[in-house]
Parts: sequence; C-alpha cells; structure tokens
Amino acid sequence: MVEKVVNNLEMIRKNIADTCQRINRDPAEIQIIAVTKYVSTERAMEALDAGVSHLGENRDDGLIHKYEILGDKPTWHFIGTLQTRKVKNIIDKVSYIHSLDRLSLAKEIHKRADKPISCFVQVNVSGEQSKHGLGEESVKEFILQLEELSHIRVVGLMTMAPLTEDEQIIRSCFRKLKQLQQEIQSLNLEYAPCTELSMGMSNDYLIAIEEGATFVRIGTALVGE
Ligand SMILES: *Cc1c(COP(=O)(O)O)cnc(C)c1O
Repeated sequence: MVEKVVNNLEMIRKNIADTCQRINRDPAEIQIIAVTKYVSTERAMEALDAGVSHLGENRDDGLIHKYEILGDKPTWHFIGTLQTRKVKNIIDKVSYIHSLDRLSLAKEIHKRADKPISCFVQVNVSGEQSKHGLGEESVKEFILQLEELSHIRVVGLMTMAPLTEDEQIIRSCFRKLKQLQQEIQSLNLEYAPCTELSMGMSNDYLIAIEEGATFVRIGTALVGE
C-alpha cells in the first residue's frame, strides 16, 4: 500500500521539529521541497493538498508536464543537471534553480529570464566523479564572475552527499558546504547574498538540518518513488 503524502509529511515535519528543538533551530527556517520526479501529477497534487507548497523536478519535460496541470500553484524548483539548450523551456516556470555550475549556463539563464532567478550554485563537495557541481576551490571565483548577469541571484549553495551509510562522511560534506556558504556570504555581494543551503534528501535530511540546511529536497520519503 502506498502511504498517503499527508501522513509522510506529518512524520517528516515531526522529525524536523524534534531535531530543531534538540539543536535549538527554528523549524520555520527550513523549507521542504517535495521532489516529484518519480511520481505522477496526481501524486504531486496530493502533496499540494497535504500542505507542501514547493515542488522540485530534475528534468525539463517532467517539469513542463506537471506545470501544464498545476501551473503556478506550487513554487517550482529545478534541481537537476540543466543543459544550456533546455533553459528556455523552464525559465518562465521556475522560481529556483539548484544546479548552477558553469558560466555558460549562467549566461543562458540571464539571457532567457526576464527577472532575477534565485539560483543555488551546485558544489561537488565529495569530489566524486559521478557528481555534478563545481569543486570547492572554484566556487568563489565562479560567483565573482556573475556580477554582470543581473538576472542571476545567488541565494545559496547546493550539494548532494555521497551515497553511503557512513554518517560522518555525509556530515562532513554538509559542514564543508556551510563553511563555504558563510565565506561567500561574508563577501557581501549584492547579487549573491548566499544565505541559503540546499542540502539533504530522504536519507540524510536530518543530518543536513543539523548542519544548517535551509532547503531540504525530499522525494522518496515524502511522495514515494
Ligand atoms: C531525486 C533527487 C532528490 C530527492 O531524492 P530522494 O532520495 O528520493 O529524497 C533530491 N535532490 C536531487 C538533486 C535529486 O535529483
């Protein structure tokens, strides 16, 4: 039997509340993004009815398909690798892009958007070859190159932790992203406030919250796979 989204959401919110209480954080600082890439539009609608207002998709066709039905009711996040030529398909639909990782993509977003888009710079903290994102050492230099692109607003950094059972490895990955975020924030760039951290998925969102996540991207545990 498939769990109702409303029940999953209740459990996730309770877990977040308990964690926040333990570490003295305000749960209101944490935005849950329901990642609907594996599920139907009906299931995404169920998530909205349950009280989720932010949805994440990792492919342009998946996003467009659901957008045709759900429109601007949810706040849309693009969380996947974004090919430059696909920017034009999604740019008028999304509020956030979590996968900014190269200048050519930034230029295309700037060109196609008619207003500033909230972007997360994706960082490959773990250094795994299979992962997209900039190496830690290139993030600052990359962000400094974005100043002229007035439709790019760097709201924060995003990462994916390695797929491992080892909590210490996951934690250290999130901790490094937070250090880097604070470093960028301290530059006080008007176009790159960099106050947010997009990190944590079904298996590691509580660790991410302990380490400072402000956006968690939850698919399987919330809407199923
Ligand atoms: C699929 C995906 C998620 C959600 O993964 P779950 O493990 O199902 O919660 C989060 N972030 C990104 C970038 C994804 O591609």
